[in-house]
Amino acid sequence: MDSNEFRDWSRRAADWGADYRDTVRDRPVRPRVTPGSIQHSVEASPPEQAEPMEAIFADFEAKIMPGMTHWQHPRFFAYFPANAARVSVIAEYLVTAVAAQCMLWQTSPAATELETKMIDWLRQALGLPEGFSGVIQDSASSATLAAVLTMRERALGWEGNSKGLSGQKRLRVYCSNQVHTSIDRAIWVAGIGDENLVRIPTAGALRSMDMAALEAAIRADKEAGMQPAGIIACVGGTSTGGTDDIAAVADIARRHGLYLHVDAAWAGSAMICPEYRHFWAGIEKADSIVFNPHKWLGASFDCSIQFVRDPESHVRTLAIKPEYLKTHGHDGIINYSEWTVTLGRRFRALKLWFLMRAHGLEGLRTMIRNHVAWSVALAERLRNEPDFEIVTEPMLSLFSFRHRAPQGVDADEHNLRLVNAINDDGFIYLTQTRVEDRVAIRFQVGQFDATREDVEAAFDAIVQTARRLA
Ligand SMILES: *Cc1c(COP(=O)(O)O)cnc(C)c1O
Repeated sequence: MDSNEFRDWSRRAADWGADYRDTVRDRPVRPRVTPGSIQHSVEASPPEQAEPMEAIFADFEAKIMPGMTHWQHPRFFAYFPANAARVSVIAEYLVTAVAAQCMLWQTSPAATELETKMIDWLRQALGLPEGFSGVIQDSASSATLAAVLTMRERALGWEGNSKGLSGQKRLRVYCSNQVHTSIDRAIWVAGIGDENLVRIPTAGALRSMDMAALEAAIRADKEAGMQPAGIIACVGGTSTGGTDDIAAVADIARRHGLYLHVDAAWAGSAMICPEYRHFWAGIEKADSIVFNPHKWLGASFDCSIQFVRDPESHVRTLAIKPEYLKTHGHDGIINYSEWTVTLGRRFRALKLWFLMRAHGLEGLRTMIRNHVAWSVALAERLRNEPDFEIVTEPMLSLFSFRHRAPQGVDADEHNLRLVNAINDDGFIYLTQTRVEDRVAIRFQVGQFDATREDVEAAFDAIVQTARRLA
């Protein structure tokens, strides 16, 4: 592709993207395709001869787009949002064109220094005290893995990397039964073993870890000769928004000398609004916090922030310094690849800079406040319908509900049929979860372009589909 073609096709792609965003509302949120159908539409082998861009682009529209789920659809109420504000997409075009590897300060000083700055902008935006620094990771899963590796090394006197885990005391890590599966996987990958991830029962409306049970578990493990390493607390769990009492957990962590990592992957974005910060009161005592601007805030995937209180312990855990990566003579510079499991790094700070400047924190706060208010209003409307039940109360913009099954029909089966029927229709998109082992339907508002009308239309779609099925 020569430069002129690159220019033309880049313009075509930009126009296509703008048209897509303008019309996505008219598409079904989730495509109706059968497994394998897209695969069958793609040639079995790569072409020997070059093909014209015209044909490639046409196939993208004809074969690929019909099989996409539209995460930027304003009536996407499933999972958690994966917002990509338009301004963040523009930053990504630029980053992709420049295509720099941002592993060391000297491999792109501007990327490193803007990253440092954006971490500090976000620290202030979330109301965290000075003293936290941080790094942009690709995903919360990677941030949690980095935190677990750091708690492991700290507990082993920094000898796990060199000596391995055999012959060491059994390490123990504590979390609630509401945490995301990325915690399980971090524990597996860190070699700690699933049997040493101690799941503390939860209680109360926010499904928080039972503090007495946490304390007892740590004491019992110590008495049994095991080595507690850390606690992973959760603010805004994926299933129903489960949230631990961070101040109380932090006290226990401090008393036992344990590393505390807080997973606020989704809910963290809401902390730009001071009125929601009570949900993570005590957060300043955490050793590590992860939140994903690529969820609610509007930075396109991937963009996960890990705040850390003691970067030295992370660098001590993760830095590897072969000769060819040494950057001699630059005092005080940061090489962010020493904070992460991956070496190669994308320039992710640019989209945060564009996003916060183009919308302002006040613009982003308004979006989040609206989402919470509309979601709470929808929960109230459903609560007032005699055949609906609110299963878990709104935590920010997330709640779950159930529809009463007709006589003689299993409630779980009925609600699974309901969520499938809603999603097959394509007007809105929802997902289900299990609460006390019974099916509940999740609802969250979080898409950047969602309006009050979209949320109100969701009410009609839910109620009408449910009554038709019943
Ligand atoms: C989404 C989510 C994660 C995983 O985030 P990734 O960035 O996809 O790894 C972890 N924890 C919680 C609470 C989440 O909502």
